[in-house]
Amino acid sequence: MDQAVTGSQDELMARIDAKRDDLISLTQALIRIPTLNPPGDCYREICEFLDTRLKEHGFETELVRATGTPGDSDRYPRWNIVARREGAGAGDCVHFNSHTDVVEIGRGWTRDPFGGEIDGDLIYGRGACDMKGGLATSIIAAEAFIEVYPDFQGAIEISGTADEESGGYGGVAYLAEQGFFSPQRVQHVIIPEPLHKDRICLGHRGGWWAEIETFGEIAHGCMPFLGDCAVRHMGAVLERFETDLYPAMAARRTDMPVIPEGARQSTMNINSIHGGQPEQADDYTGLPSHCVPDSCRIVIDRRYLAEENHAQVSGEVEALLKDLAENRSNFRFAMRELNHVAPSMTDRTAPVVTTVGKSVQAVLGKAPDLVASPGTYDQKHIDRIGKLKNCIAYGPGILELAHKPDEYIGVQDMLDSAKVMAHTLAQLLLPREAPRT
Ligand SMILES: [Zn+2]
Repeated sequence: MDQAVTGSQDELMARIDAKRDDLISLTQALIRIPTLNPPGDCYREICEFLDTRLKEHGFETELVRATGTPGDSDRYPRWNIVARREGAGAGDCVHFNSHTDVVEIGRGWTRDPFGGEIDGDLIYGRGACDMKGGLATSIIAAEAFIEVYPDFQGAIEISGTADEESGGYGGVAYLAEQGFFSPQRVQHVIIPEPLHKDRICLGHRGGWWAEIETFGEIAHGCMPFLGDCAVRHMGAVLERFETDLYPAMAARRTDMPVIPEGARQSTMNINSIHGGQPEQADDYTGLPSHCVPDSCRIVIDRRYLAEENHAQVSGEVEALLKDLAENRSNFRFAMRELNHVAPSMTDRTAPVVTTVGKSVQAVLGKAPDLVASPGTYDQKHIDRIGKLKNCIAYGPGILELAHKPDEYIGVQDMLDSAKVMAHTLAQLLLPREAPRT
């Protein structure tokens, strides 16, 4: 441990404890801004709130609208904020990136989803854990660090970005395209997603989404032999998934430390299936007409491993369909890619991983678990567009609560995580003495 870190480490930790009330009210204030996505509401409002807060603590801020990205309109503009606090001299820049959007409320709440209610140690609300609690935690950590070490070296950045819950194109992807995440500007990125205070998330699996359609021929339902049933053709596709694709995917294991364990293999969800007549509204009282369906569609959601690649993943589904076209009479299909996200996996020996790891050990007295996420988050854009490989997710909160009713964040977890983040800043941004042997 560096002398500089241990020297006033106690003061830094005490400073964070002293900010407990500030942390609670900041988290509540963020939850009370209903940044629902879709449609992408209140992005400007939350950016202005963060702008005021961070300027008071010596940050220079930029509000950036991701004009022309999906969903951006004058009614629902995609606003982002990037705040930067320069230190007293040259050094690395540590960037904390949090998304400001939250998913729909859903049913089953017993608390006000935008009330920011506190009960004991827990603060409730949509986005409490995913991830306004993490955003508040990183702000408190940075402010405490700056107060104790005003002469630190390098820079601290905090961003609040739009649209993570819908792919991040109006948020981190846009900012990365504008150069905000280039390795020349930023050296270390921490995304305070709710992975838990003692876990470091190295990255995530990839995803490939596609629509498959099978075709038939319409005819009277009483003489189906005069037509060709597209739903039966889709049945053949699903059967081949069961006999060929699912067993092949289940046999592929990854070195990525994905949690939960079940996601340490390739997986595929079938999101939807529809064939034949359009479904009618619930209050429709008519009876179906009698037709052989000439079209059936499914949407698949294939999650893949760092050991696989995009061409292989789409290729094996296409090969299966082509095989059916050769061997099943009248089988015709179309396949259309809907979206693709490459996997991202930061090296276990990357500086941000080892540094946060040391801070978890110092603050919590245990080695961190290194994990990877089953689903994607904004690291993909920082990696692929920004070309910045030194990036992790680390933050307070319980991942399983994300997107659930009565979502909450624990105050003590946030304080502990803030200490880890501040300790990390001390390791990365304080002048180092000659390493002791
Ligand atoms: Zn999130």
